[in-house]
Amino acid sequence: MKFTTIDIKGIISPFSAIGKVLEHPKTVCYPAQTKTVAPGYRGFHTNILTDCIGCANCQDVCMNDAIDMITIQEEKNPKNKSGCIPRIDYGRCCWCNLCVDVCPPNSLALGEVCIQAEMDSNKFLFFPKDSSC
Ligand code: SF4
Ligand code: SF4
Repeated sequence: MKFTTIDIKGIISPFSAIGKVLEHPKTVCYPAQTKTVAPGYRGFHTNILTDCIGCANCQDVCMNDAIDMITIQEEKNPKNKSGCIPRIDYGRCCWCNLCVDVCPPNSLALGEVCIQAEMDSNKFLFFPKDSSC
């Protein structure tokens, strides 16, 4: 005679998911809500254009070739003789911070903005300005 055992755990465990409905959510309702980032978080770059001297140190140190120096017409530092500012390719950047470390006037920094959703990949070629994108 063959006995079959009933898998009680297998029957009950799907219902345990109902209890999750009453728990406090672990995620936020983006974009209506955003999370605050931890101190020292490395988000998108910022660059104070009136301080940037266009020296290209940031481009030279970037091991990922994520920085191109691009000529702009906007108001710049009078000491910026090259007339260029860095443009970051976020398809290449690994947020290592080396470019920030070697910036002589400390105009370049990593900001707190870390979320950008775009359909066009060219939007990730980004000119850092005084505040993140
Ligand atoms: S953070 Fe690092 S990888 Fe990104 S642009 Fe600067 S040097 Fe390049
Ligand atoms: S951001 Fe800093 S390192 Fe890069 S070009 Fe400007 S001054 Fe030089």
